Amino acid sequence: MTFRNITGTFDVLPDESQSDGSTVPGTSAWRHVERTVHDVMALFNMQEIRTPVLEPTELIARGVGQLTDIVSKEMFAFERGDTHYVLRPEVTAPVMRAYLQHHLQQRGGVQKLYYIGPCFRAERPQKGRYRQFHQFGSEIIGTPDPRADAETIAAMMAVYRALGVTDVRLRLNSLGDETTRPTYKNILREYLEPHAHQLSKASQERLRTNPLRILDTKDEKERALLAGAPLLVEHLGDDARAYYDEVKHCLRDLDISYAEDPFLVRGLDYYTHTTFELESPNLGAQSALAGGGRYDLLAEELGSSVRVPAVGFAAGFERLFLALAAEQVELPGAASPQAFLVALGDEAARRVLPLAHALRREGIRTGLDLKGRSMKAQMREANRQSAAFAVIIGDNELAAERAQVKRMDTGDQVEVPFSELARMLATGVLPTQA
Ligand code: AMP
Repeated sequence: MTFRNITGTFDVLPDESQSDGSTVPGTSAWRHVERTVHDVMALFNMQEIRTPVLEPTELIARGVGQLTDIVSKEMFAFERGDTHYVLRPEVTAPVMRAYLQHHLQQRGGVQKLYYIGPCFRAERPQKGRYRQFHQFGSEIIGTPDPRADAETIAAMMAVYRALGVTDVRLRLNSLGDETTRPTYKNILREYLEPHAHQLSKASQERLRTNPLRILDTKDEKERALLAGAPLLVEHLGDDARAYYDEVKHCLRDLDISYAEDPFLVRGLDYYTHTTFELESPNLGAQSALAGGGRYDLLAEELGSSVRVPAVGFAAGFERLFLALAAEQVELPGAASPQAFLVALGDEAARRVLPLAHALRREGIRTGLDLKGRSMKAQMREANRQSAAFAVIIGDNELAAERAQVKRMDTGDQVEVPFSELARMLATGVLPTQA
């Protein structure tokens, strides 16, 4: 019997690989993208936060919303003793939990946090949709200022731009404040109820529980029905409308183009005011690269006695990689060694170990043969690993304390004293033969 990874998860190997018909970039590509996220977030003055993968189930149920697909259908949850655990399906509720638990407001000012890490949802796996996937995102906590919404969107878009993904579309909507939604829910319900028999089973259920979710239906018949529906943006109060206008104003000042989409509601219950989604036209069915919005009511939902206004985005790495591939952006492969030590004979095989160690202490990426293979096989290995130089050492070289250094791309070869190897390899230039 052999084991395989669970469907909807994947291994990240040193080199690009295939998993269930999809390409999985290698670890170096992941690190490059992660580093870019760290760098861009630093430019936006965001600080990293890391929260556990395991959270109390109730946190997610309350935070994300009992009636959402995520909570009602997609949670990996289990019990041990009296404790109910969930593998986090998203990171906003956990970050808000940490903020409240550690009284981060006492650090003063606005908390600008970002995260990178795995999330888990029991969805039907397909291209761009996994059961373990990876998100990065930011949360600006402690301000109701519309400029924070614009900063969030700007930070999100800056990551894609820094990586070279340019073919993206930003959709924007406002869900209004806490009074807008309940009022609009009833208006929408009244509009849809006479047509209930034309709705799918799922939408009929939503009509009862959470009619807003019908708005982002993909069903053509339902879309046609919705074309004449009253729109939430038409029912915004003066404050909510002014707020929305200000966000749009800021985005224009930042030269961020957007398309307003009155049907954008997002699948999580905690949003108020601004919601947005970033899409790539190159991703097929799973077109959402990232999404987010303002969630001023979440903290109270999680038990806070005071309101904690906040706004954030969440983005998926897997779909980012799909967008990078679609735009043919080259990503770095595995780092190759600067030197590969080739040992000829037993004595040399022993001596290259401390020699490699000395080079590594000088910061030289050094590989060597660990199988006692022939010189030809070792040279082939140096080549396969794209080493810049092969450093060849046999009995004569040991006696003279000099190595034969071969530049792999040109084949040029020069003798270099052991004492000068590190310096020479660091420059990457072969000295001219003395
Ligand atoms: P959401 O908050 O559900 O909109 O998720 C934010 C982003 O995470 C999405 O835009 C996707 O890029 C990514 N994402 C969400 N669910 C999955 C999944 N099951 N597999 C891969 N990526 C996902």
